[in-house]
Parts: sequence; structure tokens; C-alpha cells
Amino acid sequence: MVNLRCRNKFIVNKIEHIGIAVKDLEASNTLFEKLLGKPHYKIEKVISEGVRTSFFQSGPNKIELLEALNDESPIAKFLEKKGEGVHHIAFAVEDIKEEINRLKSEGFVILNEEPKRGADNKLVAFLHPKSSNGVLVELCQEAPPKPSAEVRE
Ligand code: ZN
Repeated sequence: MVNLRCRNKFIVNKIEHIGIAVKDLEASNTLFEKLLGKPHYKIEKVISEGVRTSFFQSGPNKIELLEALNDESPIAKFLEKKGEGVHHIAFAVEDIKEEINRLKSEGFVILNEEPKRGADNKLVAFLHPKSSNGVLVELCQEAPPKPSAEVRE
């Protein structure tokens, strides 16, 4: 049964991005540049996840390409098992902690119950694909701005 609160509030806002696992980020950047008719707007390493990512804007949505930084990277394991292709779908949420609790109570398996810092200044959490029809789902919330280093006296 769908939680009634869904009707009163935007819980899962929109698809924020689609993550695609690739073997060679440079080659795939060129490919997606041809496909979308515009270059990527950033490349970012997320050392904690063992990935190098690039982002493309496509209308209101984004495409995230992910390349493994090492053999222990989840992307390396994904490529080994499934080859290149769609890796995850990311949904934008307003309150990631609330969403984690809601989805947990709905029976979804949360891979990291404590949100972590992902690429593109986001707090992220993942749902295990086995609880969502084989799709790795990422929840992401805009991270609060980092405290300013500016000193005022
Ligand atoms: Zn992502």
C-alpha cells in the first residue's frame, strides 16, 4: 500500500540523473558529446566510491558516466558482471533521512542508512537492486553548502 503522505508532499521529486557504467571515461565522453550535441560540464573523482564521473545536462535531467578508479570499485565489479550500461537511476529527494526511513518501513533494503557525500555536491543513499526490481536506486539530496572559510572580525 502506498504511504498516504505521498499525496501531500513531493517525496521523490524527479529523476535527477541516470548513471551509466563505462570502461573508458574519455571515449565515452566523446560518444555522449556526439549523442547529446554538447560537452560534459564537469568531471569529478569520488575517491570514497572508487569512481571518476562526468556529467552531461540533457534538458532537465543529467547523465552521469562512471568509470572505475580501481579493481575494488563497485563500478569495476559491475563491469565485470554485466559489462557497460545503465548502472543506477537517481531520484532527487528533499529530505534524504526521512526518505530512508520511509522506504525502509516500506520494505526496501537500504545499502547505506547514513547518507554519504556523492558526486555533484549531493548527499546520497542507495537501495539494493534486489528490493527494487533489479534497479539500483540512488536517492540524492542537495548537500548543504560547506561552511565558509571566510573569517569576519
Ligand atoms: Zn549517481
